[in-house]
Amino acid sequence: MDEAQHQGVRFCPRCGGERLSWPTPKNFRCDCCGFVLFLNIAAAVAVIMECQGKLLFGVRKHEPGRGMLDLPGGFADAGESAEEAARRELREELGIEVPEMRYLFSFPNRYPYGGMVYDTLDQIFLVRWDQPPPVKAADDLADVVWVERGAVEFDRIAFDSLRRAVRRYLSES
Ligand SMILES: [Zn+2]
Repeated sequence: MDEAQHQGVRFCPRCGGERLSWPTPKNFRCDCCGFVLFLNIAAAVAVIMECQGKLLFGVRKHEPGRGMLDLPGGFADAGESAEEAARRELREELGIEVPEMRYLFSFPNRYPYGGMVYDTLDQIFLVRWDQPPPVKAADDLADVVWVERGAVEFDRIAFDSLRRAVRRYLSES
């Protein structure tokens, strides 16, 4: 078994058996009890907010990427649409309700947490403001900063998917 590919998973979570087979890299089957588990990608959302030529970034409070820049967003909960997840994250992290939001595009990401690496699909939304909204950093964010479109420091952005998203947005708008 390729330990790196299978993230060190060695025992069946149902029966504790050690005879796991991996028909594909994203699912295993227990040869003792027949249990099958799929390690599917997680759906996530992120929001680009633009106001008067500036983009809003959050400063991450926790690992991974503590102290680095992030877009407001996070994992979608079960039963939620991507739009609902984006609106909930904006409420939780910035304390705001958004009037209008537009889907832009998506990028894959890898999110290491607690010894596992979660593959995600980050769906990116856009909110444009005429006047700066009354944002207040909360939840996973230590702070928020507005950055001029031409002054974005891409190597300070925590995740590859979000670097690509901001680059693409700036090149197309
Ligand atoms: Zn089993």
